[in-house]
Amino acid sequence: MDLTVYKTSPAHNDFRSDTFTTPTVSMIESLASATLGDAVYNEDKATIDLESKVAKIAGKEAGLYCVSGTLSNQIALRVNLLQPPYSVMCDYRAHVYVHEAGGMATLSQAMPQAIKPKNGVHLTLEDDILPNFIPDDGEIHGAPTKLISLENTLHGMLFPLEEIKKISAFCKKNDVKLHLDGARLWNASVATGISISEYCQYFDSVSLCLSKTLGAPIGSVLVSSKKFIAKANHFRKQNGGGVRQSGLLARMASTAIDENLPKLEKTHKMALELGKLCEENGIALEHPVHTNFVFVDLAETKISYDILRQVSEKYNLKFASGRIAFHYQISDESFEAVKKAVLDAYEIAKDNKDDVVAAPKFYQAQEAN
Ligand SMILES: *Cc1c(COP(=O)(O)O)cnc(C)c1O
Repeated sequence: MDLTVYKTSPAHNDFRSDTFTTPTVSMIESLASATLGDAVYNEDKATIDLESKVAKIAGKEAGLYCVSGTLSNQIALRVNLLQPPYSVMCDYRAHVYVHEAGGMATLSQAMPQAIKPKNGVHLTLEDDILPNFIPDDGEIHGAPTKLISLENTLHGMLFPLEEIKKISAFCKKNDVKLHLDGARLWNASVATGISISEYCQYFDSVSLCLSKTLGAPIGSVLVSSKKFIAKANHFRKQNGGGVRQSGLLARMASTAIDENLPKLEKTHKMALELGKLCEENGIALEHPVHTNFVFVDLAETKISYDILRQVSEKYNLKFASGRIAFHYQISDESFEAVKKAVLDAYEIAKDNKDDVVAAPKFYQAQEAN
């Protein structure tokens, strides 16, 4: 097999999402050392190794390799919940609520309580959770809050550990489960220096993505207690997520963790630098930049989708929207180009008299990832 074609990633100029990475030469080479057992029968060593490896990083007893983060999140919600009626509380922008095809309602029969955080960044116990919490106290009109699902990072923003601790203590005291969509917990850990396991100890279940920021071809690992994972495996099977010879994918994912985790810091540096450049030039952002995303506020800056298309063609870059995503395969040349492209777009937008309307469907779909 000629691997030289994989040396430069075609994703070097792709800012649509941190999921637009391509497998590296070493990932492909690691296929040769994969085992070929049946993972549904729990007979595949490479899959078991990956599950144990991620569980160990997270400080949890067990892990379950899932084909996607959507699957691992949704089966985690399902295992955490027992008998309806109940509600699941989460941020109004949470992936489990906005981008998982209504799974919470259809798979768990749960009433979502989507909350807009008062501080605009993350939920807090005092301002957001307590005023909306529905206790299971015999009052029969409501659907008691039985699970809180947090996301870290959310839109690239960090969830402070101190707040997680408070929420976790509240949950324990009130018989409420706590799930973490940690698709990008890797980024949070790299940015803060707080270990993955330190974050995870406060949650009943955590979903960690391998295909997003780390660049594995597919998959997420759900981590929790042994008992929880045994039940999650039941739901994984029910949802068609039992993969037979997953050792091939598991080996690639394991290589991705080893090689790419240390590369995340650079993606944060790039995003922070672009964020600063925007700030210095009066280019409004939707959110503060904490890790690998810069959200240019298109409505505020009047950068239309036409203008985005113009500059993406001029500089040979790919954009999905005002959300500019950094991943480890973005090249230094593309980084220089993206800075010019954003400044250019802002200049052109100064003549734009029209309001920027909602993103075309095509772009909305890509922002989900
Ligand atoms: C992408 C994403 C998921 C789901 O991952 P898929 O593998 O695409 O299903 C879950 N949570 C967050 C925050 C994500 O960005």
